[in-house]
Amino acid sequence: MSIVVQKYGGSSVADVTRMKQVAERVMRTRAQGHDVVVVVSAMGDATDDLLALAKQVSPNPDRRELDMLLTAGERISMALLSIAIRELGGDAISFTGSQSGIITNDRHVDARIIEVRPYRVQDELARGRIVVIAGYQGVSYRREITTLGRGGSDTTAVALAAALGAEYCEICSDVDGVYSADPRVVADARRIGTLSYEETQELAESGAKVLNAQAVEFAKEKGIAIFARATASPLPGADPSEDGTVVRRDAVRPAGTIVGVASERDVLLLSSRPDLIRSGEIIGAGDIFALLDDFDVAGKQLHLTGDSLTMVISRDNLHAEDRLRAELSARFGDRVRVIDTLGAVSVIGAGINASFQNLRRGSDVLAASGIAVEHVATSSFRITWMIERARLNDAVKLLHGTFIEKKS
Ligand code: ADP
Ligand code: ASP
Ligand code: MG
Repeated sequence: MSIVVQKYGGSSVADVTRMKQVAERVMRTRAQGHDVVVVVSAMGDATDDLLALAKQVSPNPDRRELDMLLTAGERISMALLSIAIRELGGDAISFTGSQSGIITNDRHVDARIIEVRPYRVQDELARGRIVVIAGYQGVSYRREITTLGRGGSDTTAVALAAALGAEYCEICSDVDGVYSADPRVVADARRIGTLSYEETQELAESGAKVLNAQAVEFAKEKGIAIFARATASPLPGADPSEDGTVVRRDAVRPAGTIVGVASERDVLLLSSRPDLIRSGEIIGAGDIFALLDDFDVAGKQLHLTGDSLTMVISRDNLHAEDRLRAELSARFGDRVRVIDTLGAVSVIGAGINASFQNLRRGSDVLAASGIAVEHVATSSFRITWMIERARLNDAVKLLHGTFIEKKS
């Protein structure tokens, strides 16, 4: 029998009614003759609520203890879904990440999966059971409980699909696929039927949170096809790109085609004064990179030239920002500035920077609307403009209008 891995996001299991609908969808999949492994996220905003609780206790909660706390969200979902499936007559069993053999490195809050040993899952499948697994979590080789970073249930699903040799991995959410921009921001955003791994990874890294970037990286490495679909949609038919998005290797588009626009609000920009850097070398008290590593900061972009350093860092999995800022100021004074007013808007497409035409067009349209650009970064897949955070949605709409709605 072929194995199917399905992942249901937080909004799909937000309350008991939706949980029961997911149980029914799982039962329908099972009735098609598949072995079914289900990965669940925490219910609704449960992860945010747990984080808020921790913040009430401490502004800089310890990362290990956060992992102990945050994994509880998915544990509640897995047990309730398993109960719901059993209520429908299915034979389900739930497992935590650790029980499923998800082995990670020993970095707390945004650990990486290094190995999957799904023996217990395979045993239960062989017994004819539906296996329900808590997403977003694993156990380190030091036997510490870890979480995989925000949005990490997608990663659990893809990693398990790879380890189990699944036929496909379905990521079910409140949206029926990957769109050319966040449909909550751009009313005319279009669903993209087929995407390559690289395009999807760039979209995810630029802030399109419908699929987690690390999950796509995993899928690419192992050649797993991802179907992004709405939980409310029927089961995939002969052509899953018809009513969802398929992410796979062979999605060829002419080079230079722009597939989407994404934005990211939760970033900080660190900018150095010239006397911190000399000839590309960092001088002065201490080392800024070592400090950032001490705080497990995830860097997004870095630009180091003769006498200046600019860095964009992600705030997503940074939970001791107050302490980091205090430490930066104690060690570097006003030689390092933390800028907390900017966000990033990106357009994505393979070969996007073969000429400067796209960069010019995008910059012109932002300037014409009075949106000041603080920094620009490019790669062969992306152009990113750092702009005032308050104008991010305007910028997404403008760039979508320019590059997707009226393609030249
Ligand atoms: P889940 O809880 O199911 O994991 P997420 O909230 O993580 O769901 O991701 C789904 C959300 O991602 C959608 O509600 C949508 O607003 C947002 N989103 C952002 N960019 C995109 C995009 N390009 N295509 C589709 N959805 C997007
Ligand atoms: N519950 C976790 C989060 O909110 C993981 C996930 O939903 O994928 O980030
Ligand atoms: Mg998600």
